Amino acid sequence: LERTFSIIKPDATRRNLTGKINARFEEAGLRIVAQRRIWMTQAQAETFYGVHKERPFFNSLVAFMTSGPVVVQVLEGEGAIARNREIMGATNPANAAAGTIRKDFAESVEANSVHGSDSPENAAIEIAYFFAGHELV
Ligand code: ATP
Ligand code: MG
Repeated sequence: LERTFSIIKPDATRRNLTGKINARFEEAGLRIVAQRRIWMTQAQAETFYGVHKERPFFNSLVAFMTSGPVVVQVLEGEGAIARNREIMGATNPANAAAGTIRKDFAESVEANSVHGSDSPENAAIEIAYFFAGHELV
């Protein structure tokens, strides 16, 4: 079974949506095999979003991701990476399909409630950045 890395972002934890979002994952056949609530440091957020360093929204994104607690998690299932991106919906909630997490919960293109890995390579990197192997059960 494939694994993907997920974050429930500060806009969603602030509105107490962790359980509702986790229910979407479970209903879609994804299993939460690791989960931890953390407050990301500036350094953690900058490293995590390093690929976006040159983007105009980078500083704002790092400020947002460190503005409150997040839930980091590992989701497991058949085709978990694509499946998760499907149920998250488009980055910008204005473009997200009906019934997706971002359509139903996101506040804006930045405060868009969830992160999900976009490739097997990035899933492996992102999982290893936040979890030790023994935490995935
Ligand atoms: P994620 O990587 O969080 O799963 P994504 O792959 O759909 O989302 P990316 O293009 O990787 O989107 O952008 C990473 C994050 O940066 C987005 O989820 C969003 O929070 C923020 N972001 C992306 N584009 C913009 C933008 N134009 N303005 C502000 N923030 C943005
Ligand atoms: Mg991305």
